[in-house]
Amino acid sequence: MTRVHNFSAGPAALPLEVLERAREEWLDWRGQGASVLELSHRDRAFVTIAERAEADLRALLEIPNEYRVLFLQGGATQHFAQIPLNLARPDQPVDYVLTGQWGQKAAKEAGTLAQVRIAASSEAEKFTTVPDPSTWRLSEDAAYLHLTPNETIHGVEFEPPAELGERVIVADMSSTLLSRPLDVRRYGLIYAGAQKNLGPAGLTVLIVREDLLARKPRPLPAILTYAKHAEQGSMLNTPPTFAWYLAGLVFQWLRDLGGVEEMAERNLIKAKTLYDYIDGSGFYRNPVDPRFRSWMNVPFFLPDPALDVDFLKGAQQAGLIGLKGHRDLGGMRASLYNAVPQAAVDALVAYMADFARRHG
Ligand SMILES: *Cc1c(COP(=O)(O)O)cnc(C)c1O
Repeated sequence: MTRVHNFSAGPAALPLEVLERAREEWLDWRGQGASVLELSHRDRAFVTIAERAEADLRALLEIPNEYRVLFLQGGATQHFAQIPLNLARPDQPVDYVLTGQWGQKAAKEAGTLAQVRIAASSEAEKFTTVPDPSTWRLSEDAAYLHLTPNETIHGVEFEPPAELGERVIVADMSSTLLSRPLDVRRYGLIYAGAQKNLGPAGLTVLIVREDLLARKPRPLPAILTYAKHAEQGSMLNTPPTFAWYLAGLVFQWLRDLGGVEEMAERNLIKAKTLYDYIDGSGFYRNPVDPRFRSWMNVPFFLPDPALDVDFLKGAQQAGLIGLKGHRDLGGMRASLYNAVPQAAVDALVAYMADFARRHG
């Protein structure tokens, strides 16, 4: 068996230890005589798995008691719509700060459901930076302020500025959740599709403050109502049981390694290895304002796009996959999620240096 180094943006690399554990438990989950895939979500065995996953996530992020954790479906994209439905009246303003394409999509989806106001955007800078917070035009009466702390396509990452005060911050953390410590109290609602940094596709994790669940801004079907999912422990209907289980194994793996603090140290070194190489190469280029470069997603460009095909072909031969940039941006992108080890980054840099030597 050969395992490649996987830099895919999502679905993405999973920790080998987690895959091995899942394989060990594949046919028979701890003496149940059945796979997790085959267990009812109401079965005591699955409830144990589900509760353990939530407890581990709470421990990893020190999630305060007044926040509920939801294990839902739909991907981040469904929640682009479900968030305004649950948090805002149709006539109520909602603020969006755009630092990349995902935030743009979130705002567009909310556009028919509430009064979307673009408080700031770095589109004119091709989403290579974060607009200075002093220029954000925030509405006093907004139901929430939506941010994308890590833009997966453009590779822009930032923390919400301190001066936001008591505003309800809603954050799409699909590609950064669990990559570093986080002060959950700064947010009203955090959401993340699992297939980047948490586990397999099919699961979306929400961390939402209880008082927001009490908002009833409009009539909604139960299946779209966060409060109903919370009341039912994310089992209003059949949850994505296998994805929930596998995410739980990822949370355990992370705790065994030392948690998000340890992961942040590793992630910082991985990102620095790659950015330092790119900046010093005189060949490759990353256009993002160095203050806001993502630790998780590193877009980079070759001096001539005509070289892209060769670069990718050689990478594949060297056991490096998932490097093709997003179709809207072109170039390359290396995603350095928690499951991507330093050895993968070192192998990538070695390949890039060799390619530059041959084509520079
Ligand atoms: C991948 C991604 C999405 C879209 O996720 P889906 O699960 O495909 O809906 C949204 N936001 C961010 C930041 C992402 O990285």
